[in-house]
Amino acid sequence: MDEKRGDAAYGGTTADAVEAGPPFAGCVLCGEPTEYPESTKGITLCPVCEWREAERTACSG
Ligand SMILES: [Zn+2]
Repeated sequence: MDEKRGDAAYGGTTADAVEAGPPFAGCVLCGEPTEYPESTKGITLCPVCEWREAERTACSG
């Protein structure tokens, strides 16, 4: 009787990685949340993809 359930508030199934703070832009490659706010212009990459891109650029050959 005392159980209260939000119908739409907790409808997500993958909400475990959400942290308190400003909304972060999603990685354009894998969709993971990045360190950049959503207001960031251009391509946003998560730390993992950013690292991979940097390594890929370094190994151009
Ligand atoms: Zn990524």
